[in-house]
Amino acid sequence: MTLAIIGAGISGCAAAWALRTNDLDVDLFEKSRGVSGRAATRRRNGTCFDHGANYIKPTTERVHAIITEQLPTEDLVDIDRAVWTFDGSGTIAPGEDREGPMWTYRRGINTLGKLLLAGTTADLHRQTRVQRLVRRNGTWHIDDTEGATYGPYDAVLLTPPAPQAVDLIEASTFDPAVQQTVAEGLRAATYRSQFTIVLATDAPVPRPDGVYGLVNTDGAHPIAWLSFEEDKPGHVDEGSLLIAQMSPAWTETHYEAPHETLVQHAAEHVSRLLDHDVRNPAWSDHQRWRYALPNTPADATRVAVGQEVGLFVAGDALAGKGRVGLALESGLDAAASIREYLTEAAA
Ligand SMILES: Cc1cc2nc3c(=O)[nH]c(=O)nc-3n(C[C@H](O)[C@H](O)[C@H](O)COP(=O)(O)OP(=O)(O)OC[C@H]3O[C@@H](n4cnc5c(N)ncnc54)[C@H](O)[C@@H]3O)c2cc1C
Repeated sequence: MTLAIIGAGISGCAAAWALRTNDLDVDLFEKSRGVSGRAATRRRNGTCFDHGANYIKPTTERVHAIITEQLPTEDLVDIDRAVWTFDGSGTIAPGEDREGPMWTYRRGINTLGKLLLAGTTADLHRQTRVQRLVRRNGTWHIDDTEGATYGPYDAVLLTPPAPQAVDLIEASTFDPAVQQTVAEGLRAATYRSQFTIVLATDAPVPRPDGVYGLVNTDGAHPIAWLSFEEDKPGHVDEGSLLIAQMSPAWTETHYEAPHETLVQHAAEHVSRLLDHDVRNPAWSDHQRWRYALPNTPADATRVAVGQEVGLFVAGDALAGKGRVGLALESGLDAAASIREYLTEAAA
């Protein structure tokens, strides 16, 4: 039996991993060069930094067991520090005691996607953007944007953020009633945009003792999250590397702004919040996350109608919350449904 997975984010990688022991040929299509999606890591000037998800929390026992028992743990690190809060006026206050670990990996959070895939025989097609799906004679075929076609597949798993999955479904050809229902189900999921601004300094930037991250709790500050990448073992040797995740409102007003403007405006807010001038960083970077985090979940009942024709969906849209652990679990759940579907189809 054959399966196509669209998207090598954590949900897609987790599904491939969960199906690794099944007698199944899996093709995994990823539009980017790397795997792990929004659990993303970049390397620059001798540093390594997580510019999407900051850390992984074990959302359930299942996720905990996979990360600590079933996948290699040599590179796994706990950010053993505190997260404090700040409000719209920039007043910083101690946060609640943290519950459980906050994990990343020495070589970056995208190690999780790589480890999941390393345990599989899935055929990874990097830099391959899927344009549409076609269902013909009871099997699926895939067209990419370069004009190549792949298939046939007995089942397909879609994992892009819901708005991108909707575009893909609308460009596809299969049972119109199913197509419409699945698209409607996915349209219920809405996402917010959040830009990440990276500021690297030669000298360490001062902050409250033992504090790794600062989170805005009232949604009234231009910065939603600020953290210090040097607290993650193996990421930064010298100085500070600040990760500022800007609020959806700030992101909206800076949507088309060039890099210099993004950095200048964000650095002013960071300087004010920390009461320390970071307006002339040694270097800077940014990432424009258009579909950063879901606000509302997809309609799972409608989405599940696709399963009638072997079309499955996974990803944080189903959870309605942007968490690596939830995306991982959604991939595991999709894998269980796919296994059941293919077993019945083979019988
Ligand atoms: C700025 C930011 C901060 C976050 N902070 C945290 C945090 O601290 N902790 C936490 O747990 N979570 C955090 N999250 C959320 C977490 O990163 C996501 O919930 C999770 O990684 C989503 O995984 P996914 O597999 O559902 O989707 P994705 O990671 O988006 O994976 C989907 C993949 O599909 C690919 N794709 C899309 N369209 C196509 C196509 N047509 N063809 C081929 N490939 C395609 C994409 O390139 C991507 O790799 C954060 C996210 C962001 C953006």
